[in-house]
Amino acid sequence: MPIRLLPQEVSSKIAAGEVIERPASVVKELVENSLDAGAADIRVSVVQGGLDEIRVSDNGSGIAPGQAELAFERFATSKLTDVPDLEAITTLGFRGEALPSIAAVSRVVLVSREAASDEGARVEVDEGQITYSGPEGAGFGTTVTVRRLFANLPARRKFMRSVAAESSRVQTVIARYALAYPAVRFELALDGKTAVSTTGSGVLREVVADVYGPNVGHAMLEIDVDPQSDRPGVRGMISPASISRSNRSHITTFVNGRWVQDRMLTYSIHDAYRGFLMERRFPIAVIDVKADPDEIDVNVHPSKAEIRFRREGPIFSAVQQAARAALVAGSPVQEIGGSPVGEPGAARDDPAPPGPAQPGLAWPVAPLPDESGHAAAPQPAQPPMLPHSTLPALRVLGQVQSTYITAEGPDGIYLIDQHAAHERVLFEKVTSEYLVRGAESQSLIAPQTVQLDPQQRELLEAQRELVAGLGFVVEHFGGRAYMIRAVSALLTGTDPGQALTDLLDTMAEGGGFEGWEERAAYSIACHGAIRANQTLTMQEMAELIRQLEACRQPHTCPHGRPTMVHLTSARLEREFGRKA
Ligand code: ADP
Ligand code: MG
Repeated sequence: MPIRLLPQEVSSKIAAGEVIERPASVVKELVENSLDAGAADIRVSVVQGGLDEIRVSDNGSGIAPGQAELAFERFATSKLTDVPDLEAITTLGFRGEALPSIAAVSRVVLVSREAASDEGARVEVDEGQITYSGPEGAGFGTTVTVRRLFANLPARRKFMRSVAAESSRVQTVIARYALAYPAVRFELALDGKTAVSTTGSGVLREVVADVYGPNVGHAMLEIDVDPQSDRPGVRGMISPASISRSNRSHITTFVNGRWVQDRMLTYSIHDAYRGFLMERRFPIAVIDVKADPDEIDVNVHPSKAEIRFRREGPIFSAVQQAARAALVAGSPVQEIGGSPVGEPGAARDDPAPPGPAQPGLAWPVAPLPDESGHAAAPQPAQPPMLPHSTLPALRVLGQVQSTYITAEGPDGIYLIDQHAAHERVLFEKVTSEYLVRGAESQSLIAPQTVQLDPQQRELLEAQRELVAGLGFVVEHFGGRAYMIRAVSALLTGTDPGQALTDLLDTMAEGGGFEGWEERAAYSIACHGAIRANQTLTMQEMAELIRQLEACRQPHTCPHGRPTMVHLTSARLEREFGRKA
């Protein structure tokens, strides 16, 4: 076949295919136009998953008289005029492609009126051809109605999933924009039934409650970090460790109000939950990054869902640190019958941390006293952003069921899970002390041989240094056999062969941690920690509490489960009828 220029009706359908993949893409583009037009109220109605009808109405600026037809021309936009504009885009649209693309694959009716004009305009377009254009009386704002979507593209129509699936994608799109624009009132009706409805009050927590339910809305932790000269701002909400989901799809990220799908951003949030969430659990998060528009390139993808950052590092760390700080500050001691964990403000009422820590700064980690009682040198390798969420000084009262330590603090009674608490202590000791300065090891009087399977052997060889750094001295003995001559001093009294194989297995599985060091530390902590059902002396309990007090995150075990519950004095007074 000779090379020929495609007729315009064919080329426009090809181009439309890139932008308009399914009904939800139509909704996305129309809602973005409404937002760009400054609308405060956006109503969306979708019939049969959008294949029968999609309608988006707004109370935005409207289109000037005589311009409505132009909006359907390819590359016709009011949002940018020259190349420098393209370098710093502040609107959601800019390509001038959405309306012509939608119109190429459906039948569109647009009615629009500027507030200043006394008459509106109506334009009808059928598969790219304008079939009607004329004045029409209308309220101000814009209404776009799309019917017969993909009617002329049977191949594309075949790709549509069920009505329920397409409807749910539309709902996801609206929920996303509602979260990004709390000050805009959104309403979505699916086949006449209200599926999303927000008030436009401007309060993000309310929108989160509308989308995820009141309990989640109530528990979410707030993030509000202003941009600085070299750092982007980060705003939004993240779930406390007590709320999680089984996949990443509830991590919603925006950059300058534009919804984006970006692995780095999603990862930066998930990364902040290290040690707070179990493996393969993910938070709910809604984050808007305020970045300098010329630090990002939004023009990389036809549906504008991907962007490029000129420098990823500062964005990653700003988001990760903001989320981590909110999470740590928002993981207060669990209170018996009191407010839910992570209630906003709860952690901020904590007494000020003693020592050098100051809110809002990079927190120096309080030196951990060593065995002799001398304060250890400050640890250099700590992530600097962790606030030190302290425990008040506690006085041990006794042990319950050989499993929980009871203690008294300045505001009531604490019940401490001895295993979880010791796990936390050992975990921090390994990560902040042993892996930094080297571990103490305990030589075995009788070296022990252990059989390793191929996966364990491979890991041992690959992570020799790390394993040695933890205090293990292991030699190959021939075949599958290895000889253990020494183990980490934290594991004294445990079975050395079991400790080594557990270490290698936990490292292989991940145990919920990304890094090798943390995986290893977790294994040691879990293995070396005091068990439940183990009787402790008062002195042992006091020592454990003292070590817990020195931890950076004393309130949770390495996996985010609580180490303690708190029965406040107020609660006691209420329970005993001393106070209403
Ligand atoms: P883009 O959004 O990239 O500019 P579109 O094809 O989506 O391209 O829209 C073309 C133009 O039509 C916009 O630049 C805008 O001027 C106008 N327009 C579209 N929708 C609306 C709306 N809801 N309110 C006001 N103007 C609109
Ligand atoms: Mg647009």
